[in-house]
Amino acid sequence: MSNKSKRRSSSIIGRRGFMTAASLAGAAALTQPVAAESGSIAPNPAHKAAEPPKPVAATSSDVELAIRNLVIANRILAHEDVVDAYGHVSLRHPLNPEHYLLARSRSPEQIEIGDIVEYTLDGEPVNDKRAPYLERFIHGGIYAARPDVHAVVHAHSEEVLPFSISTTKLRPVIHDGAFMGAEVPVWDIADKFGHHTNLLVSNMAQGRDLARRLAGNSMVLMRGHGFAAAAPSLYEVVRLAVYAPKNAHVFQAALLLGGKVKPLSKGEIAARVEGPSLKPDTPAALRAWEYWARRAGVADLLPPQPGK
Ligand SMILES: [Zn+2]
Repeated sequence: MSNKSKRRSSSIIGRRGFMTAASLAGAAALTQPVAAESGSIAPNPAHKAAEPPKPVAATSSDVELAIRNLVIANRILAHEDVVDAYGHVSLRHPLNPEHYLLARSRSPEQIEIGDIVEYTLDGEPVNDKRAPYLERFIHGGIYAARPDVHAVVHAHSEEVLPFSISTTKLRPVIHDGAFMGAEVPVWDIADKFGHHTNLLVSNMAQGRDLARRLAGNSMVLMRGHGFAAAAPSLYEVVRLAVYAPKNAHVFQAALLLGGKVKPLSKGEIAARVEGPSLKPDTPAALRAWEYWARRAGVADLLPPQPGK
């Protein structure tokens, strides 16, 4: 058995065992249903060929769980200062990989279960007439280009913005920065759409172009605007979005010291990203998810643990 095959088996067995025992029902929350068959895909799938969607064996209760966890993700990102009035997080629909779930146009800190809307990959809301996010095309563009991606975050984090306008490339320099991968490309909207846009991703052509620049990476900076992050699960994309600005902050501080800065090596990045201890169904992942959710005041949305 190849190492890759071993990782896949381990991930699936571990996840099933977890769910059967129901020791922490949050596991399903973090891995979201369709991620089961793609468990071997690393959070940073850079340079790996995208895989087609696998058959989905999800239920309506999985959709309810997905919506609940999307609300938690919104609140976490707001509380951790990744997003403010603007910015958003989405999840590929558990029953239909050609659709995704995203809140209506409302700030993430305010998002409630009733705010979550289903969209087609072209950004058309399904049975909902409330105002959508203007930049929803970021999400559909990435889901269409990357079948391995099941969750997307877009944010305007101030910490990463200098790297979107500088020739100094954003690189992982701290261990939790590894999730962004070795390469973080910069998308300049002016390259294809000229110098008279408002910088926002306002249509599918721009969303698709952004996804092309993201390519097989986990994160793309948007010149003078923000970033888009993509991952196989909601937990992984939230983790990436929380730690990328912290990594950027440390990187900037080190650059100001004036010495030579040493980023993580490719081997260190791979060990962090592909190691089994931080997969979505692990105690370490659940620890972070519960911690973030409690800090954000949405612990009541976490699945109950046995005996409670
Ligand atoms: Zn934006």
